[in-house]
Amino acid sequence: MEQFEALEQIHTPIWIYDFDQQSIFWANSAALLLWEAETLTELLNRDLKTGMSQAVKTTLDTYRKQFELGECFRKWWNITPKQIHKRVLCDFSGVELEEGRLAMLVHALSEESYLRSNLAFSDGSNLSLLFDQSGYLLSANDAFQQFYPIALTHLSTLTGSPQRADKWLTEAQVRGEVEKETNLTINDQSYNFRIIANWVKNKNQLLLQLTDISQQKKQILAAQFEANHDCLTELYNRRGLLTQANSWTQTQHSFHLVFIDLDGFKMINDTYGHGQGDTLLIAVARRLQQSLPEALALARFGGDEFVALLPVQESLCEKLANINQLLRAPYQLRSGITVSVNASLGSTTFNSQEPLPVETLIQYAGYAMHKAKKQGKNRYQVFTSDLAQAISRKSQIRHYLSTALESDQFSLHYQPIFCCQSGKLYGAEALLRWHDDTLGNIPPAEFIPIAEDSGQIVALGDWVIQHALEQLSQWQIRDDQEFVVSINVSRIQLHSGFSTRLAQLIERYQVKPSQIAIELTESCMVYKMEEVKQWLSELSQIGVKIYLDDFGTGYSSLSVLQQLPIDVVKLDKSFVQSSQEGGLAIIQATAAICEKLGLAVVAEGIEEEYQKELLCQNNYSYLQGYLFSRPIPAKQFSQRYLL
Ligand code: C2E
Ligand code: CA
Ligand code: CA
Repeated sequence: MEQFEALEQIHTPIWIYDFDQQSIFWANSAALLLWEAETLTELLNRDLKTGMSQAVKTTLDTYRKQFELGECFRKWWNITPKQIHKRVLCDFSGVELEEGRLAMLVHALSEESYLRSNLAFSDGSNLSLLFDQSGYLLSANDAFQQFYPIALTHLSTLTGSPQRADKWLTEAQVRGEVEKETNLTINDQSYNFRIIANWVKNKNQLLLQLTDISQQKKQILAAQFEANHDCLTELYNRRGLLTQANSWTQTQHSFHLVFIDLDGFKMINDTYGHGQGDTLLIAVARRLQQSLPEALALARFGGDEFVALLPVQESLCEKLANINQLLRAPYQLRSGITVSVNASLGSTTFNSQEPLPVETLIQYAGYAMHKAKKQGKNRYQVFTSDLAQAISRKSQIRHYLSTALESDQFSLHYQPIFCCQSGKLYGAEALLRWHDDTLGNIPPAEFIPIAEDSGQIVALGDWVIQHALEQLSQWQIRDDQEFVVSINVSRIQLHSGFSTRLAQLIERYQVKPSQIAIELTESCMVYKMEEVKQWLSELSQIGVKIYLDDFGTGYSSLSVLQQLPIDVVKLDKSFVQSSQEGGLAIIQATAAICEKLGLAVVAEGIEEEYQKELLCQNNYSYLQGYLFSRPIPAKQFSQRYLL
C-alpha cells in the first residue's frame, strides 16, 4: 500500500476498488468521510458484494475492459454508504496493484450536493440497465429505480416500440458499443438521455448506461432562445434575425427586408414611463405578428426598431402602406391611456443573383427608413439605386471632409443684407464655401449636415467665427455706420463654453460685439429649452445679436419668440418664394407677430422685384437675396459695398 501513500496528500477523496475482491483496497482520509467510515480498516472490510445489482456488476466489468485498453473517464457515480445516498463526480482510471492485478482508481472530484446549483444536470447519471439478448430486463441499478419508477420488464417499454428495441439490440450486437442521444418517454414524461449501449459478448447481454440530460437540454434550448430573441417581445433580436436571414439567403431566391421604426416613441416613454413604453412595444410586436403571418422572421433590434423578413411579393408597397396603417391604430395602454404612434418604414430586397450580405441589407433598409422619416415620418421608402448613390456620395464627402480643414479648403462668402426703407446696406451673412480638387464645389446644404453628424462642425464652426471676426476687423467700417456680420451656428456648437469662446475671439480681433449676430435655427431652440435660454442670455450679455433663422419651418415658433432673447427673425425663403396664398398669409402673420413683440424681420431669398415690393409693403425691416447679390468673396464684397 506504500505505493499509494503519496495520494494521501490530496484533499479530495481517492480510493482504489479491487475488482476481484469486490471491495475497497485502499482509501485516503478524505474518502473515509465520503464513505461514512470511522477508520480505514472498517472501510476495507466493508461488504460491497451483497446487494450489488447485476447491472452494477456488469458496469464494473465494462469499466475494467476499458481500463485494460488504457482508457479513463469522468462520470457521476452513486454510492450509498450506511443508507446515505450520495452522488459524486468521479474520475475513473485503471491502476496496477503490486501483484500485477488491475484495480480501479476513483478520484471523487465533487459531491453533487455542492455542484447541483452550478451544473446543468441534476437528475440521474450513471444509470445502468441490463437486458438479455431478447430485450428482457435482467437488472436495474438503484439509481435508476429511484429516479424512474416504472414497471420495466422489456426494453420495448423504454424505447416505445418493439421495433426500436430490436434495432437497439441488433445495433449493439453488431457494433459492440453504440453511443447516442435520444428522447424516451417514461411514465408519460419525456426525457433526454445520453446512452452508451454495450454488448456483453460472453453473456449475450445488453448493458445500457444512461445519463439524463433533460435539464441540460432544456437549459441549452433556453439559452439558445435567449441569445437569439428579444426578451421583451419574444421576437428575434438582431443576432437571431441575422441567423435567420443568413439561412434564408441560402434557400430563397429573394425576399424583402423591412425596417420599421416608430415615430415619437421616445415621447411616449418620457410621458408615461418605461413600463407603458414596454407595453406599447409588445403590442406593436403582436400586431406585426398577426398582420404578417407570411413573415419569414420578425425581430426587434432594441428601442423602437423592428425588422421583418417577408417573402417576395409584387404588392410590396401596398403591404408597407398596410403595415403603416395598422400600426397607426390607437393602442390601449394602462386603463384610461390610449396612444397613437406612427411608423416610418424602409425596405430593401435580397436577390440571389446579386447577393448582398445581410448586414448590408439591414443598413440599406435602415437608410431607406431614415429617408422616409426625413420626408415627414409616417411613410415608407423602398431602397433605390438613387438612394445607394446618395449614400455613397455622403460617405465620400464624409471622407474628404475629415481632412478639408487642415488642407485649408474652406472660405467664407458674404451676402449683403439691406435696409428695406432706406435701401442702405445693413450687414452681411457669412456663408461657408468648400472647394475640394476632386469633388469640386460642395454646397453647404450638403456638407454641413454631414459635419454635424460627425461632430466636425464644432471645429469647422470655430474656424468660421475666427475668420468672420478677422474679416470684420479688417474691413474699414465707419464709426457711424451700422453693419452687422451674421454667422450661422449649428445646434451642436452651442454649449456651455460657447459664449466664453466667442468673447475671447471678440477680444482677440478687437471687434464690436454689436457688429456680430449669431444665426440659430428654431430647431436649436426647442430641445433643452432651459439650457438654451441660459446660453442665449449669456450671448446677449456679451452684446452680440441673436437671429432666429429659417423662421416658419420648425415648431413652436411663437413660444420661442416670446421666451428667448431674440433680436431679429429671418423668415425662411420658402415663404418669400411661394406663389401660394399660404405663403402670403405667413409673410403677413410673421410681420404682425414681430411687430407686436418689437422684433425686426429679415426676408431672405428675394429674387424678384415684385417680392421686394411685397415685403416692403408688409413692413419687413431688412431684405436679402439674389436680387441684390449672391454671396460673394470678402474682397469683392468690400469693393462693392464698403468703399
Ligand atoms: P441659410 O442660413 O438659410 O443661408 C441662406 C442660404 O440661402 C444660403 O445658401 C444663400 O446662398 C441662399 N440664398 C440667399 N439668397 C437667395 C436667393 O435669393 N435665392 C435662393 N434660392 N437662395 C438664396 P448657402 O450658402 O448654400 O447655405 C445653405 C445653408 O448652409 C445655410 O442656410 C446654412 O444653414 C448652412 N450654412 C452655410 N454656412 C454655414 C456656416 O458657416 N455654419 C453653419 N452652421 N451653417 C452654414
Ligand atoms: Ca442663415
Ligand atoms: Ca435661412
